Amino acid sequence: MVALPTTQNGASTPQDRRFGTLAVHAGAPHDPTTGAVIAPISLSTTFAQTSVGNPVGLYEYTRSSNPNRDNFEQAIAALEHAKYALAFSSGSATTAVILQSLAAGSHVVSVSDVYGGTHRYFTKVASAHGVQVTFSPCIELDVEELIRPNETKLVWIETPSNPTLGLVDIEKIAAVAHKYGILVVVDNTFLSPYVQNPLDHGADIVVHSVTKYINGHSDVLMGVAAFNSDSLQERLSFLQNAIGAVPSPFDCWLAHRGLKTLHLRAREATTNATAVAKALEASPNVIAVNYPGIDSHPNRAIAVKQHRNGMGGGMLSFRIKGGQEAAHLFCKYTKIFTLAESLGGVESLCEVPSSMTHAGIPKDQREAAGVFDDLVRMSCGVEDSEDLLADALQALEKAVAATKVENGSA
Ligand SMILES: *Cc1c(COP(=O)(O)O)cnc(C)c1O
Repeated sequence: MVALPTTQNGASTPQDRRFGTLAVHAGAPHDPTTGAVIAPISLSTTFAQTSVGNPVGLYEYTRSSNPNRDNFEQAIAALEHAKYALAFSSGSATTAVILQSLAAGSHVVSVSDVYGGTHRYFTKVASAHGVQVTFSPCIELDVEELIRPNETKLVWIETPSNPTLGLVDIEKIAAVAHKYGILVVVDNTFLSPYVQNPLDHGADIVVHSVTKYINGHSDVLMGVAAFNSDSLQERLSFLQNAIGAVPSPFDCWLAHRGLKTLHLRAREATTNATAVAKALEASPNVIAVNYPGIDSHPNRAIAVKQHRNGMGGGMLSFRIKGGQEAAHLFCKYTKIFTLAESLGGVESLCEVPSSMTHAGIPKDQREAAGVFDDLVRMSCGVEDSEDLLADALQALEKAVAATKVENGSA
């Protein structure tokens, strides 16, 4: 929560440093009493005071602030080019706190294909608190029409979208929203701060499910929001404490450890996803590939403008020939890609959105958003490219052949 991390020995300011250096060092001071290079985990829930209202150090009670949480928040603020960051117990809790900060009667405009849990919160929880959300499948075209002057307080974007990897031009949306004094929130979970920094493109708040790329090892549930505004810091840090949906010190410590290799993991995941996307695209067994890192992507120009070096990140999806059955079989036949929900870990995963993560959405709505029964989503990890390629291609061959035999067309 503390603004702008400071460096040891008055060295060059952190703002001058590059991503990998910040990932390793921001919010990671040596322990002042022992010299420990890695911060201890501060499990104590309360902190001694020398006299009434005079704590020994900076801390009083762990829900209000904790050393491990502060360190993690400083690191995220540095990596997202933000003045402030606030950590929460999950990505969903982060969304909830931002929505709770709006007054009853507020209105939100959101992209249609948001994360399922975000959609659920918008439609089933926010409405109970008098906050209405309008969804748009083409927000770049109609955001201005959907804005209700004086009522609309937020525009919520997820780019890339899940699971079809569509991109939104953040700068374009921010220009419209800011004309009306409306804040823009970007869920940056799918790319991580290494690939995209939404605040640099005009967003007011960037949110992450830390559970995914930032922690990166599929063993922590956590969320974070980063922003520059002092008034947002006042409002959201008040709610962080008042609502109390905060992460444990141990989870903050683990997520901070994961974060230190984010740049290495994000680069490797992009290399792997690019190789897999290109191989799938070249296969006669594939109908279409959604991956923002290759030229066939309809929003490639936005990727080049918004992503570091035009990187596509580690997520892709593709339509397999042979319908839903082939999609299910593909996920059964892969040996390295594990059939599971979630994403962003060191291990590669695959899933069938229409039957798993997006099963709750009515078929016609799903298909309108490109989520067909034959769509497979893949999260590429950091295994060796050649092994991932071979695994995907053998599963593809086998799945498509099996459906052809069954349909008597072999
Ligand atoms: C997982 C995810 C969330 C929710 O985060 P949790 O940590 O699971 O609560 C929000 N947005 C996106 C894009 C996600 O992938």
